[in-house]
Amino acid sequence: MDSAKRARVEAWLQYSNDIGLGPYFLNRTASPASIAAATNPSPMMEISPAKSIPAATRNIPPAPATTVTSALPIISATLGPSLFEAVERIPGETLNDIRADLGECTRCRLHKTRNKIVFGVGNPKADLVFVGEGPGHDEDVQGEPFVGRAGKLLTQMIEAMSLRREDVYICNVVKCRPPENRLPEKDEIATCSPFLLRQLDAIHPKVICCLGACAAQTILATQQGISKFRGEWFDFRGSKLIATYHPAYLLRNPPAKSEVWKDLQKVMAVLGLQPKKR
Ligand code: SF4
Repeated sequence: MDSAKRARVEAWLQYSNDIGLGPYFLNRTASPASIAAATNPSPMMEISPAKSIPAATRNIPPAPATTVTSALPIISATLGPSLFEAVERIPGETLNDIRADLGECTRCRLHKTRNKIVFGVGNPKADLVFVGEGPGHDEDVQGEPFVGRAGKLLTQMIEAMSLRREDVYICNVVKCRPPENRLPEKDEIATCSPFLLRQLDAIHPKVICCLGACAAQTILATQQGISKFRGEWFDFRGSKLIATYHPAYLLRNPPAKSEVWKDLQKVMAVLGLQPKKR
């Protein structure tokens, strides 16, 4: 192929990748590892393509500059089988069905040190679901998510949105407390998170708000740092999804509250909520 034609083909392939369509030219029957290697030249999955070709040199119109469009390359990173692709929707499944299926779960090592399974709490028909990382000490004792200091802050955030805690649904990626509050391991997340997906499918909220990197990275199947895509909108199995910082992070870093409030205001705009009057 001559160099001019080659440049045009490369420009189109890059463009399709930029707007989230690519890389459709990959062999989808290839192994997950080879797909990941081909789609993610960097282990951190750069949002901006490392070899981005300026629109002016492509002879093709630039993609509209919306937040969703700018975030799409992250979603395209899930072309390899994500944790959730193997999870089929089960029509009519309820949260009670899922809890019953979970049972006194011993599917991963976290069961050995837990006191109580922390399944989730709130409105089974909520428009808004918050997803955190995993239970801490207080949650492990009480069997309810977000009841410690970070939980009190989350409750304040919910109330600032003119909602009550019981209006929303709150759950975590893993249902048992990781010892010493360490991060959940990959295999623990892989084992437990399908139950999270089933919860999200059963509730089918308008908005999913991921609290912290673990929830966002798990659901979006990305390893990017949350600061790269915090506050951006994604489409996830028919719900709008946004990621913001975890309340525990806000306790350590109060100035970040203003950033989180901006994210929550975006959620409020989608849900038609007005800030609580003081
Ligand atoms: Fe089961 Fe999830 Fe607890 Fe692991 S973390 S034991 S998969 S409920």
